[in-house]
Amino acid sequence: MARTKITIDHEICGDGHKVDPRACGLCLRACPPAVFTLHQSFDIPEKDPYDPQFWRITVLWPTLCSRCMKCVEVCPEKAIRVS
Ligand code: SF4
Ligand code: SF4
Repeated sequence: MARTKITIDHEICGDGHKVDPRACGLCLRACPPAVFTLHQSFDIPEKDPYDPQFWRITVLWPTLCSRCMKCVEVCPEKAIRVS
């Protein structure tokens, strides 16, 4: 069986771009097995990569995904893809 691939567009959500995931967080709350994690971004090309204002959501446990698509449905920015 093919592995589920979950991606989040960090040009839309996180890293100081359009959406601050701390303010939204709908995908975090919608995912039954808690596949996602919210954390500070340390690898972005900002002047101060440790600036605490930059956060992102990362797919931490993709093997737990049941493909329920709740995260895709709740994301107001269509930033999540599950394939
Ligand atoms: S499809 Fe469902 S289980 Fe998979 S990451 Fe999204 S909300 Fe979680
Ligand atoms: S639901 Fe979408 S916009 Fe909201 S935190 Fe998750 S990925 Fe970002």
